[in-house]
Amino acid sequence: MSTTNASIENWLRSYMSDPQKNTMKELPGPAFDLPSVGFSRADDPLYAFYQKHIDPDFYRRPEQWLESVYGHAFDPANVSVISWVLPQTADTRAKSRECTDCPAMEWQMVRVHGEACNRSMAKALEEHLVSQGYEAVAPMCSPEFTWAKSEQFTLVSNWSERHTAFISGLGTFGLCDGLISHRGKAARYGSVIVHLPLEATKRPYTRYNEYCLAEKGCTACIDRCPAGAITLEGGHDKAKCQAYHKDVIAPICHERYGYDGYSVCGLCQTGVPCECGIPGR
Ligand code: SF4
Ligand code: SF4
Repeated sequence: MSTTNASIENWLRSYMSDPQKNTMKELPGPAFDLPSVGFSRADDPLYAFYQKHIDPDFYRRPEQWLESVYGHAFDPANVSVISWVLPQTADTRAKSRECTDCPAMEWQMVRVHGEACNRSMAKALEEHLVSQGYEAVAPMCSPEFTWAKSEQFTLVSNWSERHTAFISGLGTFGLCDGLISHRGKAARYGSVIVHLPLEATKRPYTRYNEYCLAEKGCTACIDRCPAGAITLEGGHDKAKCQAYHKDVIAPICHERYGYDGYSVCGLCQTGVPCECGIPGR
C-alpha cells in the first residue's frame, strides 16, 4: 500500500484509538481526543525564516535533522514534515476550567503520561515509515533534541512542535504563546520528518497570530493567569511563568493531589475563548 497523506493520518488516528496507548495511566480515560494532522515541505521558506529568527547555529531545518541521523545530504524539496495536534479531552478541560491556581490532576497526568504517549506515537510513526522504506526521524525522540538558554526568548529548543504546526497549516499563535488550532489551544503537538514528498497542507491564514483575538480586545488568558505572566504589551513572560510552575504549582500538587512528579500550569489554555476551537468562528 502506498504511503499518502491520508494513510499517515489514518495511521495516527488508529494509534490514538488504542486505549492501551492513549492513556493517563494513573487515572481512567484517554489522555487525548483523536489527532488532526497537517503537512509541510522542508523547502517551505518559513523553516529557514524560523531558523534565522530563533538561532541559525542552533535551530535545525527539517532536512538537517535527517542529515544528522542518516549522514548524507537531502534535497528539501523531497522532505516532508508530518505535524499533529492532540487536543485535551472535554473532561480534562472542564475540570481545569474550574481551577484558578493550579489545573486538575488530569491535566498533570496528560502532561506526563499523555506526553509519553505522544512521544511513543512519534517514534512508532518514524519506525513505521522506515519499515516502508523511507528515511524518517521524530526530532522529539532524538537524542539530539535539546534546549538552550536564549537572551531573546529565555529558552529555546532546536525543534519547535508549535512552529512546525503553524507551518503545516494547523493553527496560529495566541497571546500566551500557545498555538490555536481549529481544535483549540488546550492541546499537545508532535511531528515526524520523512524523506518523501507529501502534499503540503494549505495554510488557511497569513499572519502568525491571526486566530488570536487580543487585537480585538480579548484579555481572557491575561485574566486567567495567576502569575501575571501575560500582558497585552509583552505577550508571554516565560521567566515569570516558569517561576510560577516551580514556586506555586509544585507545592500545590504535593498538598492537593499528593503528587510530586513533573507538574505544569496551563491555566491560560482553559476557560478562554480559544480553549477548544478558533475563537469567534
Ligand atoms: S484568550 Fe484571547 S487573547 Fe488569549 S490567546 Fe486566546 S484569543 Fe488570544
Ligand atoms: S502556564 Fe500558567 S503561569 Fe504560565 S502563562 Fe499560562 S496561566 Fe500563566
